[in-house]
Amino acid sequence: LKKEANKRIKYIFFDLDDVLYDTTLQYYNARLNAIRAMIEAGLPVDLETGYRILINVIDEQGEYSSQHFDKMLEKLGLAYNSRIVAAGVVAYHDTKLAFLKPYPETISTLLRLRDKGYFLGVLSWGKTIKQWEKLIRLGIQHLFHKVIMFEEIGYEKPVPEAFKVSLKNLKILPSEALYVADQPNPDILNANRAGLITVRIRRGKYRTEEPDSDEMVPRYEISKLSELDEVLNKILKAKKQ
Ligand SMILES: [Mg+2]
Repeated sequence: LKKEANKRIKYIFFDLDDVLYDTTLQYYNARLNAIRAMIEAGLPVDLETGYRILINVIDEQGEYSSQHFDKMLEKLGLAYNSRIVAAGVVAYHDTKLAFLKPYPETISTLLRLRDKGYFLGVLSWGKTIKQWEKLIRLGIQHLFHKVIMFEEIGYEKPVPEAFKVSLKNLKILPSEALYVADQPNPDILNANRAGLITVRIRRGKYRTEEPDSDEMVPRYEISKLSELDEVLNKILKAKKQ
């Protein structure tokens, strides 16, 4: 019993998008600036219309298509115009890079948790190479003891096994691990099912989304990463009682 009482969280895993940096803001601004540049290059629509059409195209073609701006022209009934498309591409990439910055408290929180002796990891869905690119550009890749992209280990679709297998390979018990993520589904749902202690961060485009079922309810909720210390203290106190 005493041993159980002394057991504490040793491992903290993070989701990436809208958790370690403001992905929502990054994409919003990149898209908006792309439309602005396309208008400047001759696209005959207003900003609002352009933005709306771009979002439609992304919904239809998927996030990873490279044809978004070409398709926009098509949707507007306009002839292909390489100057307009290139203007959009340049503004999009420049803005994306400019906003690929950690939240103000990301690095200090990670360093503090490392100093306290926690093992830090990333567990993320999404395209492996894209997620790695983000970590490297954010300049935080060295702060983690382990980075696992689920896609790379064979899980393209979110399932609890992705968590279970990742932790098992690291010889980590789910009950000793926190998972910090933004979405009730699939993040919190699958981590809960795998037995991790879940922490939802209310940030980004899913911040107002409410859980559809009990399994999507996180154990703890925070609004920024620096509140993790408080969560860890709470867990420690609860275990001591
Ligand atoms: Mg997420």
